[in-house]
Amino acid sequence: MKFFDTHTHYDDQKFDVIQRKDFIASLFDGNIEYIVGASVDESSSYFQIAASEMFENYFAAVGIHPENCAQYAGNSDEALGVIEKLARHPKVVAIGETGLDFYWQDNPPREVQTEFFEKQLDMAERLGKPVIVHDREAHGAVFDILRRHPRVCGVMHSCSLSAEMALQLCRLGWYISFSGVVTYKNAVNVASVVKAIPEDRLLIETDCPYLPPAPYRGKTNNSSYIIHTAEKIAELRDWSLEKTAQITSQNAKRLFSV
Ligand SMILES: [Zn+2]
Repeated sequence: MKFFDTHTHYDDQKFDVIQRKDFIASLFDGNIEYIVGASVDESSSYFQIAASEMFENYFAAVGIHPENCAQYAGNSDEALGVIEKLARHPKVVAIGETGLDFYWQDNPPREVQTEFFEKQLDMAERLGKPVIVHDREAHGAVFDILRRHPRVCGVMHSCSLSAEMALQLCRLGWYISFSGVVTYKNAVNVASVVKAIPEDRLLIETDCPYLPPAPYRGKTNNSSYIIHTAEKIAELRDWSLEKTAQITSQNAKRLFSV
């Protein structure tokens, strides 16, 4: 049984530079069939494209994360021009991650985050590609912006929405992705979202090296741990692990056109 990990950060320093290539190869030899690498800035977008050229089943998303946009403030068109050029690479399957993060006090100003989010949605529309959206403590603002871009579709990654909001997004054609958070004891809200959404909208991800599933909390996450998230989803949906693997892979292939 193999899984589609729809959200990873293998350029993170937690993964040893020397061993990184062999490590990713070992994941494909194990329980992983497909990986999407998400970007946070220009250099990580270059990394994701290089990795996608090394492995047949590794795909890239390019973009600027809300927490990383301050360095390009005042130069958004130039920075996003670079991203848009990269986005035309044949292995780039999405724009992202982009979105809003109002959690940390010292995050970039909201108006800068908003500018980068809106411009990346416009880019996704021009290129006809889906977006990978990061939303932390910013649900209302994210929804307002998505409503202004009705022709853009994508995935809400590591979903922390209410079931009601997640369902609204699904009705607009969006996908909802669940990370290791679903395995945490206090994840009651996330569990209710897993149960509520239509099965053809459901995706899984690790967001590695972040958000390891319960058995590995405090450790560096990697794609092979996705099985714990898949097991929890199988339990919540009251279906088999095989069905979780099959449905989530099918959905991810549809969203990313792979
Ligand atoms: Zn991420």
